[in-house]
Amino acid sequence: MSKIRILADRVANQIAAGEVVERPASVVKELLENSVDARASRIEVEFRNGGKSYIRVEDDGIGMAQDQALLSLERHATSKIRDAGDLNHVRSFGFRGEALPSIASISRFSLRTRCKEEKEGSEILINGGKMVHVKECGMPLGTRIEVSHLFNSVPGRRKFLKTEITESTHLMHLAKLYALAHPRIHFTLLEGGRTIFKSPACEDLYERVSEIFGKGFAESLSHLSAEENGLALNGLVGKLGQSRPTRKELIFFVNQRPVDSKTLSYATIEAFHTFIPRGRFPPAILFLEIDPASVDVNVHPSKKEIRFREEAKVRNFLLTTLLNRNRDFNLQAPTKPNEIKLEVDSVSTKLVPQIDPKALEMYGLNQSPIPQPQVNSVEKNVDLSVRPSGEQPSTPDTYKEGDCDQLFPEEFVRPRGAGLASWRLIDRIKGGLALFATAEGLVAMHGRAAYERVRFEELESCLQGKLQYESQALLLPENLELDSIDSTCLNQNSIGLQRLGFDIEEFGRNFFRINGCPPWLTPERSLAFIKDFLEIAREEGSSLQTLEIVQEAMVRESCFKSTEGGGFSDEELILLAKELLQCGNPYTCPKGRPTFFEIPIRDFEKRFQRRI
Ligand code: ADP
Ligand code: MG
Repeated sequence: MSKIRILADRVANQIAAGEVVERPASVVKELLENSVDARASRIEVEFRNGGKSYIRVEDDGIGMAQDQALLSLERHATSKIRDAGDLNHVRSFGFRGEALPSIASISRFSLRTRCKEEKEGSEILINGGKMVHVKECGMPLGTRIEVSHLFNSVPGRRKFLKTEITESTHLMHLAKLYALAHPRIHFTLLEGGRTIFKSPACEDLYERVSEIFGKGFAESLSHLSAEENGLALNGLVGKLGQSRPTRKELIFFVNQRPVDSKTLSYATIEAFHTFIPRGRFPPAILFLEIDPASVDVNVHPSKKEIRFREEAKVRNFLLTTLLNRNRDFNLQAPTKPNEIKLEVDSVSTKLVPQIDPKALEMYGLNQSPIPQPQVNSVEKNVDLSVRPSGEQPSTPDTYKEGDCDQLFPEEFVRPRGAGLASWRLIDRIKGGLALFATAEGLVAMHGRAAYERVRFEELESCLQGKLQYESQALLLPENLELDSIDSTCLNQNSIGLQRLGFDIEEFGRNFFRINGCPPWLTPERSLAFIKDFLEIAREEGSSLQTLEIVQEAMVRESCFKSTEGGGFSDEELILLAKELLQCGNPYTCPKGRPTFFEIPIRDFEKRFQRRI
């Protein structure tokens, strides 16, 4: 057997590099963190070929004197912690003192730096871990690090790199994360001289988000801020009705460090569970501030994964904050059906639900009306006079393919601004599909989905004690004989059911009598409803709460209502539309499927290829 020996520094560094530097984006991450730690106010990142052939990170931070710069390239050289005790309150990004020597061991590495005490800067060039030269150079205050031919000295690693596009995607995403975390730093990202984004120091996150991801995305988000028991949550979260097909826009920072955290992402997804369609994700950029002593950032060498010492506390804080925020969109407790006011539409003379002006305000519809197509100067003067046959219509009258797609991203559905004041029922297709004319187009509303959403929010308010249903008495009370499992279940849920408007009396062992039911339930259906309730509770075991069981039973009831129960009447559909628009989340049913969508007149114009 061969003898044990201590590895040469260069080899040790290359091994460490295996952990710290996984791909070009990891180099950028380490260098960016150093620049932020060096209190830079401007950072510029440039890369070529997905970062495989060239990376430059330049800052105007505190820089280093020559001896310090040389030291920074030694293993375990760090200016950020002194002893293990400091690990408990790490505020800086770096602290391992591994990044620079690791990167330098697997690339051609050039460091130029100057601190304010020195007139001349220093330049250090290292190739594959071997020092090439150290010399003085002209350099503004700050540090510039260039890394080229990454992994050339370790061809085995280079093989594992993905395509240039994949590496670029990772790198750009990472640069965006750091730019988001530090809006006050002027940030520039270049790819081979082409600017990908340039964002001057911003006042707040919102501004930075619109610089980096575009105004449209920023406008789909709203501010959130909460504090409790030493935890603080700030950031931007999708407005109701906004969802994304992937988790890419679900971004978390803990103490300004971008992190991957299952705790945080699961809590957020859970909070949006009934607000967005299944399989889609809420967009959110959230910053959690927490005592550094209660997070372990030392789990993974690249520090992306973190562990909370009090996992449940963090989870609950996030969940309740986001749930409250989503529920706050609830205007007040929903109006009881019999309180809903109708008014006569001046145009159609039909009855339409009166829209609460507060609802419009709540959804921000007053301030930000739906984007209108860009009307250019020619378009303003569309000539509508009859053209001699054979003459081609002038271009402004025609719509280009894609006009609408651009204006209306796939998930863009929301109630209208002032025009929404009248949703006029035109007719229905197949019973429960109601068509409404609006000032802006045509709305198709799914009666059952709307019914489920409206009832669901009412049920929720009842269980929270915000709303009290008047129980309606049954003319003939219904008797119910149950086995012991079902009667235990009924007893366990009796308070919840009572809050929901059921009046159920136990009048003997396993014997019950239903005396009253909520106003939205047809009295003759109350026995069937409670039977469904018990069946669902039995199927699911004791894992479900009253609300969840009732919700399931209510969904079954809505199925019955829309098929065998004779369907929704015109008046009911009109009421539903009104109630729906007062919901906290009018866009989806409790299972996340759409309740209504609108076809704007522009879509019709596109299809007809002329103005209407
Ligand atoms: P760590 O960040 O874990 O301390 P690094 O290897 O990343 O370790 O950096 C080593 C040291 O070099 C840092 O502690 C810091 O003092 C110095 N340093 C690195 N980059 C910069 C920079 N851009 N500006 C000023 N000092 C820097
Ligand atoms: Mg570092």
